[in-house]
Amino acid sequence: MNEYEIIEKFFKRQTPDAVGVILGIGDDAAIVRVPADRELVLAIDTLVAGVHFPRETAPEDIGWKALAVNLGDLAAMGAEPHWVTLSLSLPEADEDWLSRFAQGFFQLAGRYGLALIGGDLCRGPLAVTVQAHGLVPAGQAITRAGARPGDRIYVSGTLGDAGYSLTEAGCHGPYRRYFRGRLDRPEPRLKLGQALRGIATSAIDISDGLAGDLAHILNASHVGAELDATRLPLSRELQMATEYEEGRRLALTAGDDYELCFTAAPASDAAIEQLAAENRVRLTVVGTIQSGSGLKCLEISRDEQYTGYRHF
Ligand code: ADP
Ligand code: MG
Repeated sequence: MNEYEIIEKFFKRQTPDAVGVILGIGDDAAIVRVPADRELVLAIDTLVAGVHFPRETAPEDIGWKALAVNLGDLAAMGAEPHWVTLSLSLPEADEDWLSRFAQGFFQLAGRYGLALIGGDLCRGPLAVTVQAHGLVPAGQAITRAGARPGDRIYVSGTLGDAGYSLTEAGCHGPYRRYFRGRLDRPEPRLKLGQALRGIATSAIDISDGLAGDLAHILNASHVGAELDATRLPLSRELQMATEYEEGRRLALTAGDDYELCFTAAPASDAAIEQLAAENRVRLTVVGTIQSGSGLKCLEISRDEQYTGYRHF
């Protein structure tokens, strides 16, 4: 198969519920319509085999995850995704692999009515780059920069499961399928992110561990924080599989959960309780924003203070 046949067969799809597509796959570039009262929100991420996913990851899961991590970024901005572009570097044109990859990718894209409007294809080591394009009402995006002293720090869902799936015990224990599912199939918190517009003062998606990602909010907002490690939400599975210390360490430092961390003033308590119920998502207060700088973890000794995953 040449590259045009591959694009035609696996990536060119009708997406009738997609909005604003003037020109999709097939020309030199795509064209989309951005309404006058909206701003365009862009996120791009590359997943490299052996770095961002284990080499033996199923192609369906790679397709899902490459899109999910970008949607997680748009979720943290409070944006609505609409369009995606996809750049694939493949060692060979394996039709079975391509078909399964496309299945996972479009399964998630279809859920949100997203249109794949372009991309690129080349031969090389396995790597997938997705760019997600979304919209947000002008001026209403949630950034990392708005946290204020006194704000509560929230996290969605539970933390540490994806990271645990990469440990020796995590790959072999009785809940290994659950943990591996959390690694391979993160659920972007899009509804939650959109509902947080006008409520959250800052937000970030947790890709590199809570401690490291919260530090980005603190730096951008010029504030500090106190985190209560005893309040970190762990799944029942992780509580059963690990000793308390290990579960807590994973929740603080392991990435790949793609939950949201956000801040909000105490005046928003009722609004947040309501949107947690409406969106059926667990939201847990894990700490408080303070004036000053730096992250203090209560219940964790000084020489153990954690940072997140770093590539360099
Ligand atoms: P060019 O040489 O101008 O970059 P390409 O041959 O790379 O054009 O791509 C032809 C068309 O197919 C373009 O519209 C491009 O966006 C689209 N395309 C290429 N690769 C992919 C892909 N992996 N997924 C979706 N669309 C793709
Ligand atoms: Mg090209």
